[in-house]
Amino acid sequence: MTEHKDVVIVGAGPAGVGIAATLRHIGVENFVLIDRYEVGASLQRWPVETRFITPSFFSNPFGQIDLNAVTPDSSPALSSGMEHLDGKTYAGYLREVLDAHAIETLTSTHIVDVSLNRQGRFRLLSANGERWETPVLIWATGEYQFPDMQAFEGADLCCHYCQVNSWKDFKPDNYIVIGGYESAIDAALNLLEQGSQVRLLTRSAPWANYHIQDPSVSLSPYTRQRLKNAMDNPNLEIYENADITSVLKTSNPDSLYRVNTADGRAWCTHQRPILGTGFICGGGACQIAPFFDWGSEGQPLLTEEDCSTRFPGLYLVGPQVRHDQRIFCFIYKFRERFSIVAQAVARQLNIPLLKQVWQVPDDECCKDESCGC
Ligand SMILES: Cc1cc2nc3c(=O)[nH]c(=O)nc-3n(C[C@H](O)[C@H](O)[C@H](O)COP(=O)(O)OP(=O)(O)OC[C@H]3O[C@@H](n4cnc5c(N)ncnc54)[C@H](O)[C@@H]3O)c2cc1C
Repeated sequence: MTEHKDVVIVGAGPAGVGIAATLRHIGVENFVLIDRYEVGASLQRWPVETRFITPSFFSNPFGQIDLNAVTPDSSPALSSGMEHLDGKTYAGYLREVLDAHAIETLTSTHIVDVSLNRQGRFRLLSANGERWETPVLIWATGEYQFPDMQAFEGADLCCHYCQVNSWKDFKPDNYIVIGGYESAIDAALNLLEQGSQVRLLTRSAPWANYHIQDPSVSLSPYTRQRLKNAMDNPNLEIYENADITSVLKTSNPDSLYRVNTADGRAWCTHQRPILGTGFICGGGACQIAPFFDWGSEGQPLLTEEDCSTRFPGLYLVGPQVRHDQRIFCFIYKFRERFSIVAQAVARQLNIPLLKQVWQVPDDECCKDESCGC
């Protein structure tokens, strides 16, 4: 049996949940949200010690929507009472958003094939054999579950940040961490906290860049502050300009892994080096690569409305969305695109747009004469 939907959203992370709530808000009824695992699966798989670097604060009634909210009327700070949430708590917030908007969500449903029928509608097939047809497919499969294990020769010998359950599983020892941005610094700091010695090998020193405060290209204040506190720790050694070319396995158990750089330096360790070097370009969009044109930097090419330049009706939401130099890789960035995509979908489905989306809520407080603020 094939189910017919007006819209199918694949991926129930912040992007999929946010666009689902936006569609519901503008009156789209016949749609389903699908995830191969559970709601917020990537966040649930963060190392347990990982915290949001962007702070949450409930200020929505005053027109400043919580930085990590995926709808204008919700707030992870309010729902959790936390400023820097862990992944599991944030996944709980996402479930609350789905409940509040009564959104049909299918979990444990892995989309393994997407094709087109003769009418140009998308046909989806799950690993369980379920089928859907839809004129609008929203692909929200993120990046976290698609680590780049080919970044250099031998990268697959390393332990990627996304393979870590808890830093407590790493017994105090001597570790090499490769990378210089958020996840590498977080890995290094957590290992230091466990009493380990850490050699951090990095191409650049993003913490030294005080001019660019965009966490897409520089260290966030949260991580910068944590790193500053650790800079005097004698167990931390930082090697800059380390352009890693290979990690090779040796036969010597004391120096089992040899990490080589382009300028001829090398470091040895008997523990698997830890990779904080990011995810494959395009992330989960690579699962349906033929449905996109791809740019010179390996990014899926999109119209101004975040639609595939190859297939009208296929939209990309989430951190892989790029327009020129703008990278929408944080929740507060990519949520800006929800209203653009939702309006394009409404037009495609001939749904009259009665409501504005992602409008800053009115300050109800100050409309009340008794308000003393
Ligand atoms: C350590 C770390 C810290 C971060 N801190 C912050 C922060 O402080 N602030 C911030 O804004 N951002 C932060 N980010 C980035 C943020 O987490 C991501 O941008 C965000 O999770 C992306 O949301 P998403 O919904 O696009 O992807 P995901 O959260 O990865 O969700 C994608 C979903 O798609 C599902 N899926 C994938 N393929 C299929 C398929 N074929 N069929 C069905 N389902 C599928 C997955 O199971 C998953 O649930 C951080 C990221 C990391 C790694």
